[in-house]
Amino acid sequence: MPTFAELGLQAPILAALKDVGYEEPSPIQAESIPPLMEGRDVIGQAQTGSGKTAAFGLPMINYVDPDEREVQGLVLTPTRELCIQVTQALRTYGRHKGVDVVAVFGGAPIRSQQAQLRAGGHIVVGTVGRVKDLISRHSLVLHSTRYVVLDEADEMLDLGFLEDVEKILSLTPNSRQTALFSATMPLEIQRLADQYLYDPVLVKVAAKTLSVDTVEQFGREVAAKDKPAALVEVLQAERPEQAIVFTRTKIRCDQLYRTLRDQGLNVKALHGDMSQGARDGVMISFKEGRTPILVATDVAARGLDITTVTHVINFDVPTSPDVYVHRIGRTGRAGRSGRAITFYEPRQARELEAIEVHAGIKMAPWTQDAHVAPTAPRPAKPRRHAAKPHDAPAVANGAAPPVGKLAKLIIAGGRADGIEPSDVIGALAGGAGLEGERIRNVRVLERFSLADVPADALETVLSSAVELGGSPLRLEVARS
Ligand code: AMP
Repeated sequence: MPTFAELGLQAPILAALKDVGYEEPSPIQAESIPPLMEGRDVIGQAQTGSGKTAAFGLPMINYVDPDEREVQGLVLTPTRELCIQVTQALRTYGRHKGVDVVAVFGGAPIRSQQAQLRAGGHIVVGTVGRVKDLISRHSLVLHSTRYVVLDEADEMLDLGFLEDVEKILSLTPNSRQTALFSATMPLEIQRLADQYLYDPVLVKVAAKTLSVDTVEQFGREVAAKDKPAALVEVLQAERPEQAIVFTRTKIRCDQLYRTLRDQGLNVKALHGDMSQGARDGVMISFKEGRTPILVATDVAARGLDITTVTHVINFDVPTSPDVYVHRIGRTGRAGRSGRAITFYEPRQARELEAIEVHAGIKMAPWTQDAHVAPTAPRPAKPRRHAAKPHDAPAVANGAAPPVGKLAKLIIAGGRADGIEPSDVIGALAGGAGLEGERIRNVRVLERFSLADVPADALETVLSSAVELGGSPLRLEVARS
């Protein structure tokens, strides 16, 4: 493996790489950077997690002349999330060289993006729709853009952006250099490459060499109706630091989110029907580690790069082996080990097998104590955000205390006040000196919240005034 210095990158870039602690190029970087530095077009077949952003980004930063106030590099992304992620990475790599990177994406005020473009930007990273929009408003001019990257081209195809991508490409100089990165190579993408890339170098990182190798993979057969309970059981046994739970559709995502939330779990949902603002909030909260469990659809979680994800749970069987590899590529990154658990219904055993064959892996059956099996050693590291047993009382197994008579409480304060289920549990249990798991059926509604407490602890809870969300806790016993 060559070193970054041997790849010929400029000193300020090497300094930036030192800052972020990259010791050596990843395989996709070692193969893509030399041809890109020579000015050649490249087709990179690689997934998130392979280091593809630096593979196209480092030569781009190297290419840019900071003294020239024009857009010299353009990265097109299918989603806003990926756009933000790539922007952050490029800013990091280009910091010492003084390269300005501007992100443009839909769902945010176009005016501030126009202002940023007016103020200058050597590299623009943008979603297809917003880039097109800004071009038509003459806010984005591509006549000096000689380094163009299409990131996750297959996703652009899936989202129906291909025509727009072609339009944008046709507005850049013919003499441009083009890199196309894609996890898969459907015919339409090959055709796009044939038409818009010149004599490209093909760089492929086999799925097997991806981070998937460092992920322990399990399957769990479960009937459709038992899935939510099985999930809670898995979360309790595994105690993930951070987990992404994948569902097949937005509706299922929302349903599962509500179910888990109503169990008192600290969970958030991420799907395409949410407003951009809400999605951003969730992404930030997850990235910062404040949300331990994220229920997401494939589209919404596309390209998510979160190094702290310890678990990926496929609540629904992925629709293809590619999707499977893509999903579990979210965990087990950068030398960490991760765990992936795939739920399948008895009738889906064949689908699971097909995934195993195509992805070249074998899933072991998941059991309650699969996580302590001697063949599956786990790194002993502190878990900041473990899903505690009290987070999931209602479907809890033997570990939870027996349910006695419960009293229902109405608590002033809800989502509108930024209250989360864990806050309610903390406020009720904390003041009364109860164990968190004795607070049950927590539901946070818009303006107020509901929770059940053991009837024998009701007096204590009522008399121990604790704060909730910064104000004194106001409680009332519900009359049922
Ligand atoms: P990507 O596939 O571009 O989303 O990158 C996946 C993750 O790997 C990101 O968190 C990068 O910061 C990290 N990464 C990329 N290149 C390297 C490298 N050469 N050494 C260590 N980590 C890297």
